[in-house]
Amino acid sequence: MRVDAIVIGAGISGAAAAYALAERRRVLLLERESRPGYHSTGRSAALYTPNYGNATVCALVRTARSFFETPPPGFADQPLLRPRGALTFGGVEDAAKLDALLALSGPGHEIVEISTRRALDLAPILRPERIARALFEPAVADMEVAAIHQGYLKGFRARGGVLATEADATRIERHRSEWRVTAGGEEHVAPMLVNAAGAWADEVAALGGIPGVGLVPKRRTALTIETEGQDPRGWPAMDEIANDHYLKPDAGRLMASPGDATPSPPCDAQPEELDLALLVDWIERATTLRVGRIASRWAGLRSFVADDSPVMGEDAAAPSFWWLAGQGGYGIMLSAPLARCLAGLAEEGRLPPDIVAAGIRPEALDPRRPGLPIA
Ligand SMILES: Cc1cc2nc3c(=O)[nH]c(=O)nc-3n(C[C@H](O)[C@H](O)[C@H](O)COP(=O)(O)OP(=O)(O)OC[C@H]3O[C@@H](n4cnc5c(N)ncnc54)[C@H](O)[C@@H]3O)c2cc1C
Repeated sequence: MRVDAIVIGAGISGAAAAYALAERRRVLLLERESRPGYHSTGRSAALYTPNYGNATVCALVRTARSFFETPPPGFADQPLLRPRGALTFGGVEDAAKLDALLALSGPGHEIVEISTRRALDLAPILRPERIARALFEPAVADMEVAAIHQGYLKGFRARGGVLATEADATRIERHRSEWRVTAGGEEHVAPMLVNAAGAWADEVAALGGIPGVGLVPKRRTALTIETEGQDPRGWPAMDEIANDHYLKPDAGRLMASPGDATPSPPCDAQPEELDLALLVDWIERATTLRVGRIASRWAGLRSFVADDSPVMGEDAAAPSFWWLAGQGGYGIMLSAPLARCLAGLAEEGRLPPDIVAAGIRPEALDPRRPGLPIA
Protein backbone atom coordinates (compact mmCIF):
# COMPACT_ATOMS: atom_id res chain seq x y z
CA MET A 1 0.00 0.00 0.00
CA ARG A 2 1.28 3.49 -0.81
CA VAL A 3 0.34 6.21 1.69
CA ASP A 4 1.66 9.55 2.99
CA ALA A 5 2.64 8.23 6.43
CA ILE A 6 3.01 4.86 8.14
CA VAL A 7 2.63 4.65 11.94
CA ILE A 8 3.98 1.52 13.65
CA GLY A 9 2.12 0.59 16.86
CA ALA A 10 -1.59 1.12 17.57
CA GLY A 11 -1.38 1.65 21.32
CA ILE A 12 -2.66 4.99 22.55
CA SER A 13 0.45 6.85 21.29
CA GLY A 14 0.31 5.53 17.73
CA ALA A 15 -3.49 5.85 17.58
CA ALA A 16 -3.31 9.50 18.67
CA ALA A 17 -0.53 10.29 16.19
CA ALA A 18 -2.35 8.53 13.35
CA TYR A 19 -5.52 10.47 14.19
CA ALA A 20 -3.65 13.81 14.19
CA LEU A 21 -1.70 13.12 10.99
CA ALA A 22 -4.78 11.81 9.14
CA GLU A 23 -6.23 15.30 9.17
CA ARG A 24 -3.92 16.14 6.25
CA ARG A 25 -2.39 12.85 5.07
CA ARG A 26 -3.34 9.34 4.05
CA VAL A 27 -2.11 7.26 6.98
CA LEU A 28 -1.61 3.53 7.50
CA LEU A 29 -1.47 2.34 11.14
CA LEU A 30 0.26 -1.01 11.66
CA GLU A 31 -0.32 -3.16 14.76
CA ARG A 32 1.31 -6.51 15.44
CA GLU A 33 -1.44 -7.80 17.74
CA SER A 34 -4.95 -8.76 16.68
CA ARG A 35 -6.35 -5.99 18.88
CA PRO A 36 -4.92 -2.50 19.47
CA GLY A 37 -4.27 -1.67 23.11
CA TYR A 38 -3.19 -5.16 24.17
CA HIS A 39 0.10 -3.98 25.70
CA SER A 40 0.79 -0.97 27.98
CA THR A 41 -2.30 0.97 26.88
CA GLY A 42 -4.68 -1.68 28.20
CA ARG A 43 -2.78 -2.09 31.48
CA SER A 44 -2.57 1.40 33.00
CA ALA A 45 -3.95 2.82 36.23
CA ALA A 46 -6.02 5.22 34.10
CA LEU A 47 -5.22 8.31 36.16
CA TYR A 48 -4.76 11.89 35.02
CA THR A 49 -2.14 13.31 37.43
CA PRO A 50 -0.95 16.83 36.57
CA ASN A 51 1.77 16.90 39.28
CA TYR A 52 3.50 13.62 38.39
CA GLY A 53 6.75 13.22 36.46
CA ASN A 54 9.54 15.64 35.58
CA ALA A 55 8.96 19.29 34.64
CA THR A 56 8.59 18.53 30.91
CA VAL A 57 6.05 15.77 31.56
CA CYS A 58 4.04 17.91 34.02
CA ALA A 59 3.95 20.85 31.60
CA LEU A 60 2.75 18.64 28.72
CA VAL A 61 0.17 16.83 30.86
CA ARG A 62 -1.31 20.12 32.08
CA THR A 63 -1.88 21.19 28.45
CA ALA A 64 -3.78 17.93 27.86
CA ARG A 65 -6.65 18.63 30.19
CA SER A 66 -8.60 20.82 27.74
CA PHE A 67 -8.51 18.12 25.03
CA PHE A 68 -9.83 15.46 27.38
CA GLU A 69 -12.43 17.78 28.91
CA THR A 70 -13.61 19.14 25.58
CA PRO A 71 -12.69 16.66 22.84
CA PRO A 72 -13.68 17.38 19.23
CA PRO A 73 -17.39 16.80 18.45
CA GLY A 74 -18.19 13.10 17.96
CA PHE A 75 -14.89 11.94 19.51
CA ALA A 76 -16.62 10.06 22.35
CA ASP A 77 -20.12 9.65 23.75
CA GLN A 78 -19.07 9.82 27.40
CA PRO A 79 -16.87 12.08 29.56
CA LEU A 80 -13.18 11.18 29.18
CA LEU A 81 -12.16 12.50 32.62
CA ARG A 82 -14.07 11.90 35.85
CA PRO A 83 -13.23 13.65 39.14
CA ARG A 84 -11.32 11.40 41.52
CA GLY A 85 -8.85 13.40 43.62
CA ALA A 86 -5.66 11.96 45.08
CA LEU A 87 -4.54 11.69 48.67
CA THR A 88 -0.82 11.38 49.37
CA PHE A 89 0.11 10.48 52.91
CA GLY A 90 3.25 9.85 54.92
CA GLY A 91 4.92 9.77 58.30
CA VAL A 92 6.96 12.51 59.99
CA GLU A 93 10.07 11.05 58.38
CA ASP A 94 8.58 11.78 54.90
CA ALA A 95 8.44 15.56 55.40
CA ALA A 96 10.99 16.35 52.67
CA LYS A 97 9.15 14.28 50.06
CA LEU A 98 5.77 15.71 51.02
CA ASP A 99 7.12 19.28 50.93
CA ALA A 100 8.62 18.65 47.46
CA LEU A 101 5.22 17.45 46.20
CA LEU A 102 3.44 20.40 47.82
CA ALA A 103 5.81 22.79 46.03
CA LEU A 104 4.41 21.60 42.65
CA SER A 105 1.00 23.11 43.44
CA GLY A 106 -0.20 25.75 40.99
CA PRO A 107 -3.36 27.21 39.45
CA GLY A 108 -5.49 24.41 38.01
CA HIS A 109 -3.33 21.71 39.61
CA GLU A 110 -3.52 22.66 43.27
CA ILE A 111 -2.17 20.55 46.11
CA VAL A 112 -3.45 21.34 49.60
CA GLU A 113 -2.34 20.07 52.98
CA ILE A 114 -5.24 18.53 54.92
CA SER A 115 -5.59 17.23 58.46
CA THR A 116 -5.26 13.56 59.31
CA ARG A 117 -8.89 13.61 60.33
CA ARG A 118 -9.94 14.96 56.92
CA ALA A 119 -7.75 12.36 55.20
CA LEU A 120 -9.51 9.58 57.10
CA ASP A 121 -12.92 11.05 56.23
CA LEU A 122 -11.94 10.86 52.55
CA ALA A 123 -10.27 7.45 52.77
CA PRO A 124 -11.74 5.59 55.75
CA ILE A 125 -9.85 2.35 55.05
CA LEU A 126 -6.43 3.89 55.78
CA ARG A 127 -4.86 3.14 59.14
CA PRO A 128 -4.51 6.38 61.15
CA GLU A 129 -1.05 5.48 62.45
CA ARG A 130 0.34 5.65 58.85
CA ILE A 131 -0.74 9.29 58.43
CA ALA A 132 1.25 12.05 60.08
CA ARG A 133 0.66 14.41 57.16
CA ALA A 134 -1.63 14.28 54.14
CA LEU A 135 -1.87 16.20 50.87
CA PHE A 136 -4.87 16.33 48.57
CA GLU A 137 -4.92 17.00 44.80
CA PRO A 138 -8.47 17.71 43.59
CA ALA A 139 -7.42 17.89 39.91
CA VAL A 140 -6.44 14.21 39.71
CA ALA A 141 -9.04 12.42 37.58
CA ASP A 142 -9.93 8.97 36.30
CA MET A 143 -9.36 8.61 32.57
CA GLU A 144 -11.66 6.56 30.34
CA VAL A 145 -8.73 4.94 28.54
CA ALA A 146 -10.73 2.66 26.26
CA ALA A 147 -13.00 5.52 25.16
CA ILE A 148 -10.00 7.78 24.47
CA HIS A 149 -8.20 5.06 22.50
CA GLN A 150 -11.36 4.23 20.53
CA GLY A 151 -11.97 7.95 19.95
CA TYR A 152 -8.59 8.28 18.25
CA LEU A 153 -9.10 5.11 16.19
CA LYS A 154 -12.65 5.98 15.17
CA GLY A 155 -11.64 9.55 14.25
CA PHE A 156 -8.63 8.22 12.35
CA ARG A 157 -10.85 5.92 10.27
CA ALA A 158 -13.34 8.75 9.68
CA ARG A 159 -10.46 10.78 8.25
CA GLY A 160 -9.71 7.99 5.76
CA GLY A 161 -6.99 6.21 7.76
CA VAL A 162 -6.43 2.46 7.50
CA LEU A 163 -5.66 0.26 10.51
CA ALA A 164 -3.98 -3.09 9.81
CA THR A 165 -3.87 -5.54 12.74
CA GLU A 166 -1.77 -8.72 12.85
CA ALA A 167 0.67 -6.61 10.85
CA ASP A 168 4.03 -7.10 12.51
CA ALA A 169 6.59 -4.74 10.97
CA THR A 170 9.56 -7.00 10.38
CA ARG A 171 11.54 -5.13 7.75
CA ILE A 172 12.20 -1.41 7.25
CA GLU A 173 14.21 -0.06 4.35
CA ARG A 174 14.97 3.42 3.11
CA HIS A 175 14.68 3.61 -0.67
CA ARG A 176 15.45 7.01 -2.20
CA SER A 177 13.17 9.38 -0.28
CA GLU A 178 10.72 6.71 0.87
CA TRP A 179 10.35 4.14 3.63
CA ARG A 180 9.42 0.59 2.71
CA VAL A 181 7.91 -1.39 5.55
CA THR A 182 7.15 -5.10 5.36
CA ALA A 183 4.37 -6.07 7.77
CA GLY A 184 2.07 -9.09 7.81
CA GLY A 185 3.59 -10.27 4.53
CA GLU A 186 2.78 -7.04 2.66
CA GLU A 187 5.01 -4.18 1.61
CA HIS A 188 3.94 -0.61 2.33
CA VAL A 189 5.57 2.59 1.11
CA ALA A 190 5.46 6.12 2.51
CA PRO A 191 7.66 9.21 2.67
CA MET A 192 7.10 9.45 6.47
CA LEU A 193 7.46 6.76 9.14
CA VAL A 194 6.39 7.13 12.80
CA ASN A 195 7.81 4.75 15.37
CA ALA A 196 5.17 4.42 18.12
CA ALA A 197 6.04 0.86 19.06
CA GLY A 198 6.01 1.33 22.84
CA ALA A 199 8.55 -0.91 24.58
CA TRP A 200 9.71 -2.14 21.15
CA ALA A 201 10.61 1.32 19.77
CA ASP A 202 14.38 0.73 19.86
CA GLU A 203 13.87 -2.67 18.18
CA VAL A 204 11.77 -1.09 15.44
CA ALA A 205 14.44 1.56 14.84
CA ALA A 206 17.05 -1.19 14.58
CA LEU A 207 15.03 -2.84 11.79
CA GLY A 208 15.78 0.26 9.72
CA GLY A 209 19.43 0.38 10.80
CA ILE A 210 18.68 3.45 12.95
CA PRO A 211 20.38 3.77 16.35
CA GLY A 212 18.11 3.46 19.38
CA VAL A 213 17.54 6.08 22.09
CA GLY A 214 18.42 3.83 25.03
CA LEU A 215 14.83 2.95 25.87
CA VAL A 216 14.38 0.92 29.09
CA PRO A 217 11.00 -0.80 29.54
CA LYS A 218 10.16 -1.20 33.24
CA ARG A 219 7.57 -3.62 34.56
CA ARG A 220 4.81 -2.37 36.87
CA THR A 221 2.44 -4.71 38.71
CA ALA A 222 -1.22 -4.20 39.57
CA LEU A 223 -4.12 -6.11 41.09
CA THR A 224 -7.72 -5.53 42.11
CA ILE A 225 -9.51 -6.70 45.25
CA GLU A 226 -13.02 -6.55 46.67
CA THR A 227 -13.65 -4.03 49.46
CA GLU A 228 -15.55 -6.22 51.94
CA GLY A 229 -18.94 -4.63 51.43
CA GLN A 230 -17.68 -1.04 51.53
CA ASP A 231 -18.42 1.19 48.55
CA PRO A 232 -15.10 2.53 47.21
CA ARG A 233 -16.56 4.71 44.48
CA GLY A 234 -16.18 8.00 46.35
CA TRP A 235 -12.70 7.31 47.71
CA PRO A 236 -9.73 9.19 46.25
CA ALA A 237 -6.59 7.59 44.85
CA MET A 238 -4.31 6.92 47.84
CA ASP A 239 -0.53 7.02 47.62
CA GLU A 240 1.92 6.28 50.43
CA ILE A 241 4.79 8.60 49.58
CA ALA A 242 7.55 6.63 51.32
CA ASN A 243 7.26 3.63 49.01
CA ASP A 244 5.08 4.81 46.06
CA HIS A 245 2.54 2.04 46.73
CA TYR A 246 -0.92 3.21 45.72
CA LEU A 247 -4.61 2.32 45.67
CA LYS A 248 -7.49 3.59 43.60
CA PRO A 249 -11.14 2.69 43.15
CA ASP A 250 -11.68 0.75 39.94
CA ALA A 251 -15.14 -0.30 38.76
CA GLY A 252 -16.47 -1.12 42.24
CA ARG A 253 -13.21 -2.72 43.35
CA LEU A 254 -9.92 -1.36 44.61
CA MET A 255 -6.88 -1.38 42.36
CA ALA A 256 -3.43 -1.48 43.99
CA SER A 257 0.12 -1.23 42.70
CA PRO A 258 3.49 -1.37 44.44
CA GLY A 259 4.76 1.27 42.03
CA ASP A 260 7.48 -1.13 40.91
CA ALA A 261 9.80 -0.32 38.01
CA THR A 262 11.76 -3.46 37.22
CA PRO A 263 13.79 -3.27 33.98
CA SER A 264 12.54 -5.82 31.45
CA PRO A 265 13.05 -6.69 27.81
CA PRO A 266 10.06 -5.73 25.64
CA CYS A 267 7.52 -8.54 26.14
CA ASP A 268 3.98 -9.49 27.12
CA ALA A 269 4.64 -8.52 30.76
CA GLN A 270 3.20 -10.70 33.52
CA PRO A 271 3.14 -10.11 37.28
CA GLU A 272 5.64 -11.89 39.54
CA GLU A 273 4.16 -13.81 42.50
CA LEU A 274 6.60 -12.15 44.92
CA ASP A 275 5.56 -8.64 43.85
CA LEU A 276 1.90 -9.58 44.34
CA ALA A 277 2.58 -11.09 47.78
CA LEU A 278 4.49 -8.00 48.95
CA LEU A 279 1.70 -5.79 47.66
CA VAL A 280 -0.99 -7.77 49.53
CA ASP A 281 1.13 -7.51 52.68
CA TRP A 282 1.32 -3.71 52.24
CA ILE A 283 -2.44 -3.41 51.67
CA GLU A 284 -3.10 -5.24 54.94
CA ARG A 285 -0.61 -3.05 56.84
CA ALA A 286 -1.69 0.30 55.35
CA THR A 287 -5.45 -0.30 55.37
CA THR A 288 -8.06 -2.07 57.47
CA LEU A 289 -8.87 -4.43 54.57
CA ARG A 290 -8.12 -8.17 54.62
CA VAL A 291 -7.27 -9.50 51.18
CA GLY A 292 -9.16 -12.77 50.87
CA ARG A 293 -8.84 -13.13 47.12
CA ILE A 294 -7.16 -11.24 44.31
CA ALA A 295 -9.91 -10.48 41.78
CA SER A 296 -7.56 -9.66 38.90
CA ARG A 297 -3.84 -9.16 38.39
CA TRP A 298 -1.66 -7.83 35.62
CA ALA A 299 1.61 -6.15 34.76
CA GLY A 300 2.60 -3.75 32.02
CA LEU A 301 5.70 -1.98 30.74
CA ARG A 302 6.43 1.70 31.24
CA SER A 303 9.30 2.70 28.94
CA PHE A 304 11.77 5.45 29.79
CA VAL A 305 14.89 7.07 28.34
CA ALA A 306 17.74 8.47 30.45
CA ASP A 307 16.11 11.81 31.37
CA ASP A 308 12.56 10.40 31.81
CA SER A 309 11.11 12.84 29.24
CA PRO A 310 9.25 11.49 26.21
CA VAL A 311 10.96 11.17 22.84
CA MET A 312 9.13 12.92 20.00
CA GLY A 313 10.56 14.29 16.79
CA GLU A 314 12.23 13.57 13.50
CA ASP A 315 15.52 11.71 13.78
CA ALA A 316 18.39 13.93 12.62
CA ALA A 317 20.22 10.73 11.63
CA ALA A 318 17.31 9.39 9.52
CA PRO A 319 15.21 11.95 7.63
CA SER A 320 11.43 11.39 7.82
CA PHE A 321 11.81 8.80 10.58
CA TRP A 322 9.80 10.12 13.54
CA TRP A 323 10.00 8.92 17.12
CA LEU A 324 7.04 8.78 19.51
CA ALA A 325 8.36 6.77 22.43
CA GLY A 326 9.49 6.87 26.06
CA GLN A 327 6.10 7.90 27.47
CA GLY A 328 6.97 6.22 30.79
CA GLY A 329 4.08 6.12 33.25
CA TYR A 330 2.30 9.03 31.56
CA GLY A 331 1.45 7.82 28.06
CA ILE A 332 -2.33 7.98 28.34
CA MET A 333 -2.22 11.59 29.57
CA LEU A 334 0.52 12.50 27.08
CA SER A 335 -1.18 10.94 24.06
CA ALA A 336 -3.05 14.07 22.95
CA PRO A 337 -0.31 16.70 23.45
CA LEU A 338 2.47 14.53 21.99
CA ALA A 339 0.38 13.71 18.91
CA ARG A 340 -0.39 17.41 18.46
CA CYS A 341 3.34 18.20 18.82
CA LEU A 342 4.24 15.59 16.20
CA ALA A 343 1.63 16.83 13.73
CA GLY A 344 2.60 20.45 14.39
CA LEU A 345 6.28 19.81 13.69
CA ALA A 346 5.54 17.61 10.67
CA GLU A 347 3.00 19.95 9.07
CA GLU A 348 4.16 23.41 10.09
CA GLY A 349 7.64 22.97 11.51
CA ARG A 350 6.58 24.17 14.96
CA LEU A 351 4.87 23.02 18.13
CA PRO A 352 1.27 24.11 18.83
CA PRO A 353 1.17 27.60 20.42
CA ASP A 354 -0.38 26.43 23.72
CA ILE A 355 2.42 23.90 24.16
CA VAL A 356 5.09 26.52 23.41
CA ALA A 357 3.33 28.79 25.93
CA ALA A 358 3.67 25.98 28.49
CA GLY A 359 7.45 26.27 28.09
CA ILE A 360 8.05 23.21 25.90
CA ARG A 361 10.72 23.43 23.18
CA PRO A 362 11.24 20.74 20.51
CA GLU A 363 14.80 20.25 21.83
CA ALA A 364 13.40 18.89 25.14
CA LEU A 365 11.77 16.00 23.25
CA ASP A 366 14.29 15.53 20.43
CA PRO A 367 15.44 11.93 19.91
CA ARG A 368 19.09 13.05 19.60
CA ARG A 369 19.10 15.51 22.51
CA PRO A 370 22.21 15.63 24.69
CA GLY A 371 22.10 13.09 27.49
CA LEU A 372 20.40 10.33 25.53
CA PRO A 373 22.76 7.53 24.58
CA ILE A 374 22.93 6.52 20.93
CA ALA A 375 22.17 2.85 21.50
C1 LIG B 1 0.61 -0.47 35.73
C2 LIG B 1 0.68 0.75 34.85
C3 LIG B 1 0.05 1.90 35.27
C4 LIG B 1 0.04 3.04 34.44
N1 LIG B 1 -0.70 4.11 34.82
C5 LIG B 1 -0.80 5.19 33.99
C6 LIG B 1 -1.65 6.26 34.33
O1 LIG B 1 -2.31 6.25 35.37
N2 LIG B 1 -1.73 7.32 33.46
C7 LIG B 1 -1.01 7.35 32.29
O2 LIG B 1 -1.12 8.34 31.55
N3 LIG B 1 -0.20 6.33 31.95
C8 LIG B 1 -0.08 5.25 32.77
N4 LIG B 1 0.72 4.20 32.42
C9 LIG B 1 1.58 4.32 31.23
C10 LIG B 1 0.81 4.08 29.94
O3 LIG B 1 0.07 2.89 30.03
C11 LIG B 1 1.84 4.00 28.78
O4 LIG B 1 2.71 5.11 28.80
C12 LIG B 1 1.13 3.99 27.44
O5 LIG B 1 0.13 2.99 27.38
C13 LIG B 1 2.12 3.77 26.30
O6 LIG B 1 1.37 3.64 25.11
P1 LIG B 1 2.08 3.22 23.76
O7 LIG B 1 1.06 3.32 22.70
O8 LIG B 1 3.33 4.04 23.62
O9 LIG B 1 2.55 1.73 24.01
P2 LIG B 1 1.73 0.36 23.83
O10 LIG B 1 0.36 0.49 24.37
O11 LIG B 1 2.58 -0.72 24.41
O12 LIG B 1 1.60 0.22 22.27
C14 LIG B 1 2.70 -0.09 21.44
C15 LIG B 1 2.16 -1.01 20.36
O13 LIG B 1 3.17 -1.21 19.37
C16 LIG B 1 2.95 -2.52 18.84
N5 LIG B 1 4.18 -2.95 18.17
C17 LIG B 1 5.42 -3.11 18.69
N6 LIG B 1 6.28 -3.51 17.77
C18 LIG B 1 5.59 -3.60 16.60
C19 LIG B 1 5.94 -3.97 15.27
N7 LIG B 1 7.20 -4.33 14.96
N8 LIG B 1 4.98 -3.97 14.33
C20 LIG B 1 3.69 -3.62 14.62
N9 LIG B 1 3.32 -3.25 15.87
C21 LIG B 1 4.26 -3.25 16.85
C22 LIG B 1 2.66 -3.34 20.08
O14 LIG B 1 2.00 -4.55 19.76
C23 LIG B 1 1.79 -2.37 20.88
O15 LIG B 1 0.40 -2.59 20.68
C24 LIG B 1 0.75 3.03 33.20
C25 LIG B 1 1.39 1.86 32.79
C26 LIG B 1 1.35 0.73 33.59
C27 LIG B 1 2.02 -0.52 33.11
